[in-house]
Amino acid sequence: MRLSRYFLPILKENPREAEIVSHRLMLRAGMIRQQGAGSFSWLPLGKKVLDKVCRIIREEQDRAGALEILMPTIQSADLWRESGRYEDYGKEMLRIKDRHERDMLFGPTNEEMVTEIFRSYIKSYKDLPLNLYHIQWKFRDEVRPRFGVMRSREFLMKDAYSFDLDFEGAKAAYNRMFVSYLRTFTRMGLKAIPMRADTGPIGGDLSHEFIILADTGESEVFCHRDYLDLKVPGEATDFTNDDEIAGIVRDWTTPYAATDEMHDEAAWDKIAEGDRLSARGIEVGHIFHFGDKYSKPMGAKVTGPDGKDHNVSMGSYGIGPTRLIAAIIEASHDENGIIWPESVAPFDVGIINMKAGDAECDRVCDELYSKLTAAGRDVLYDDTDQRPGGKFATADLIGLPWQMIVGPRGVAAGEIEIKNRRTGERETLPIEAATKRLG
Ligand code: ATP
Ligand code: MG
Ligand code: MG
Ligand code: MG
Repeated sequence: MRLSRYFLPILKENPREAEIVSHRLMLRAGMIRQQGAGSFSWLPLGKKVLDKVCRIIREEQDRAGALEILMPTIQSADLWRESGRYEDYGKEMLRIKDRHERDMLFGPTNEEMVTEIFRSYIKSYKDLPLNLYHIQWKFRDEVRPRFGVMRSREFLMKDAYSFDLDFEGAKAAYNRMFVSYLRTFTRMGLKAIPMRADTGPIGGDLSHEFIILADTGESEVFCHRDYLDLKVPGEATDFTNDDEIAGIVRDWTTPYAATDEMHDEAAWDKIAEGDRLSARGIEVGHIFHFGDKYSKPMGAKVTGPDGKDHNVSMGSYGIGPTRLIAAIIEASHDENGIIWPESVAPFDVGIINMKAGDAECDRVCDELYSKLTAAGRDVLYDDTDQRPGGKFATADLIGLPWQMIVGPRGVAAGEIEIKNRRTGERETLPIEAATKRLG
């Protein structure tokens, strides 16, 4: 992409409404545009990051055996009356009427709808296990939308729903999502810690929130320092092997970790002072087993091997891709701007032409651009006539992981400079070698 043809509305000033660094940087880097309270448009740069985040989520959901679908945002109130949640949900639900005066709502979540799909088709235990997910916009009329896309009213969610014959099957499904989440967040350069979370009126111990430690987090969390060094399962993890998956979950649930609602002072006191991490955290994912909470009132049952009907045992598994982007920035930035992990960076490489219009600089940049693009790299070529200082500032602000700096003096000597955004290290290389390095 040539910057002269891109839409990158950079803000020079710090927007006054932004209280936290991720919100500030997303506005300044031209990633998002606020349209109303808790409502944002995603501009080209932001949309690219969002797509990369969703792609990682998809790959890891698919790897764990979940199947992607897409359900509507607008739902019928009658479906929610079946589960009893239409009255219970309260003011966070945006209620709408259509032209026939029918009660509708903008979905805050999809348990009811996916249960309706399940019960319409699946009748036998032989068709289980099943896990269906989608990545779709949600609306929650939050009391206090704030911090940009961190807590917005309209936000993207990946929500998966598992269906099993019994608790044992449901637990295996839960474990698969647990391990899939560990991999998902690690691939985005994040250290997410699974913490025991409140299961509310359903009880049981099968609910974990995945938390990123950050000072600006809204939750108070407590965990053992050991989490910082635990090994994240690799690509070779066999999701069809229930024992292997359960082993990973065991390792990742053994050290103490809890959100404040689940905090157990007695257990906490037993941990050596130096091993305790008491911090603030951002909830980026949440997994939940809830058994027959929806299958029973909504009649989602299958015939078991015993020939009898069983209400299916369900779980749901959420990740907030839009919130995740803010969390990534909270975890990875400096005073100059965003430092994207390469896996989610909007572009892999930036080419900075220090003297656009200079025939030699233009020629070298054009050549670099076409070679890197042909090698499959996503390149942002700054071909504008801005001054070099401004170009460097932009490249750092939007967090391009690698920057190739092309100036007249270097070009005359057959060299260009490569800069690593994270370390700040610069290296001068012959043009050919630089192209090889980043191509
Ligand atoms: P919170 O405690 O922050 O209000 P929640 O517990 O209500 O979140 P869940 O119902 O567990 O959220 O939804 C799954 C995921 O969706 C969350 O872990 C989070 O990543 C994301 N999410 C929830 N609410 C919002 C929001 N208002 N804005 C952005 N993302 C959100
Ligand atoms: Mg909430
Ligand atoms: Mg929560
Ligand atoms: Mg939650």
